[in-house]
Amino acid sequence: EEVVEKIDYVFKVVVVGDSAVGKTQILSRFAKNEFCFDSKSTIGVEFQTRTVTIQGKLIKAQIWDTAGQERYRAITSAYYRGALGAMLVYDITKRQSFDHVARWVEDLRAHADSSIVIMLIGNKADLTDSRAVPTEDAVEFAEEQGLFFSETSALNGDNVESAFIRLLEEVHGMM
Ligand code: GDP
Ligand code: MG
Repeated sequence: EEVVEKIDYVFKVVVVGDSAVGKTQILSRFAKNEFCFDSKSTIGVEFQTRTVTIQGKLIKAQIWDTAGQERYRAITSAYYRGALGAMLVYDITKRQSFDHVARWVEDLRAHADSSIVIMLIGNKADLTDSRAVPTEDAVEFAEEQGLFFSETSALNGDNVESAFIRLLEEVHGMM
């Protein structure tokens, strides 16, 4: 239960990346600690919220999910407007979703505030036998582009919480 008047900041965070990489499931895992096995692709822009304490401040994260507009350049600037953080998600078992990460960075840099904090996320880390993207490739790309990086599993919850908290800490550090 939220006590609205105590909230110090509301941070808008957007989740981007190719279709089916697990964006909606990562968000459900963080916002509700749920994983939905029969999820349909998202319809209509939606956001979920979760309030966390960061460095003694009560922060409400308002996290926006795409509405099946994952085609290149289909996301409107309204989606990015006011976003302070971004989760840029690829699927470690789908090389193409990683190859498209550079486009998503371009899109973020074109439409979001230049100071937006970007966390690159390699999701589905539970599928170790099907890995198609070596961790080192992502580490290298993240370093080049000045992104934070984590591998997660929305399925078993690994690193989801810590990745969101890290992103929110970095955003808070800029306040
Ligand atoms: P979105 O299109 O990026 O929002 O992707 P979804 O969140 O709808 O997930 C796409 C598919 O990947 C669904 O079948 C999910 O159940 C599955 N999925 C999502 N995250 C994970 C994960 O961490 N591990 C595994 N094994 N499957 C996942
Ligand atoms: Mg989705």
